[in-house]
Amino acid sequence: MRALRALLVAVLVGVLPAACGEANAFPEDTTMARIRERGILTVGIKFDQPVFGYKDPASGRITGFDAEVARLVARDLTGSERNIRFVETVSSERENFIEQGVVDLVIATYSITETRAQRVTFSDPYYYAGQDLLVRVGDSTINGVTDLKGKTVCTARGSTSVERVRAMVPGIDLEVVDAYSICVPALVAGRVDAVSTDDTILLGLYAQHPDSLRLVGKPFGREPYGMGIKKQDTAFRDYLNGLIARWLCNGEWDRAYVATVGVSGTTSESAKPAPRPANC
Ligand code: GLU
Repeated sequence: MRALRALLVAVLVGVLPAACGEANAFPEDTTMARIRERGILTVGIKFDQPVFGYKDPASGRITGFDAEVARLVARDLTGSERNIRFVETVSSERENFIEQGVVDLVIATYSITETRAQRVTFSDPYYYAGQDLLVRVGDSTINGVTDLKGKTVCTARGSTSVERVRAMVPGIDLEVVDAYSICVPALVAGRVDAVSTDDTILLGLYAQHPDSLRLVGKPFGREPYGMGIKKQDTAFRDYLNGLIARWLCNGEWDRAYVATVGVSGTTSESAKPAPRPANC
């Protein structure tokens, strides 16, 4: 009887919590421990990029692949994907918001670049995009980046998109605005000839005007998306890299893709980073 009681106590005290998946403890003084203690994760994200980061005007819910990634981080850190506060973060504010601590991390179609890495630290890539063009459906003169000479192209301040078109088409006439969504009415109205940024973003903007716009579909340049965090927070970076590695293997990445980007029928071959077999 006594042995039985001892066994019961052992099960309740030791084995049960582990079996129930009690969250791992994080070392004190880490960003992970602070966020868990606070119980809420603050994420910088886009609000105007359907499919990736979008605030639904009717429900107020933030949707898209980046939002799904953010929810997975929140779930792991705080126990629920609902413990999250989204802060709209336009391209040119990403480094500032990270440095100033406005957000814990930025998940916002944020390409990993050497220049940015001088101010912030990036996770491993969790998604690969490519730069593309959105044009008016009736305009057959633009079928690739080399056709942009003499055209007016709209893109966003502080993005790799603006740098790449500038480098590839010297002397190009650019309309540089704060967000890609601002470019769309200008394109539809004929004030600019093309919008250029990542295909992921253009796909969502195109879907809002399928009758008047056309996605060129010839990506130039590869854009690896990373989560951006405070410079030198290597413990947080390693933790995020562990999460990414897990999602690539356990089906979470594919689930997020199917629920967002995949809705349009596109497949994930070029977008999905290769999972590391050791993590699967
Ligand atoms: N991925 C590119 C960048 O980080 C373009 C998209 C964006 O501006 O969010 O600059």
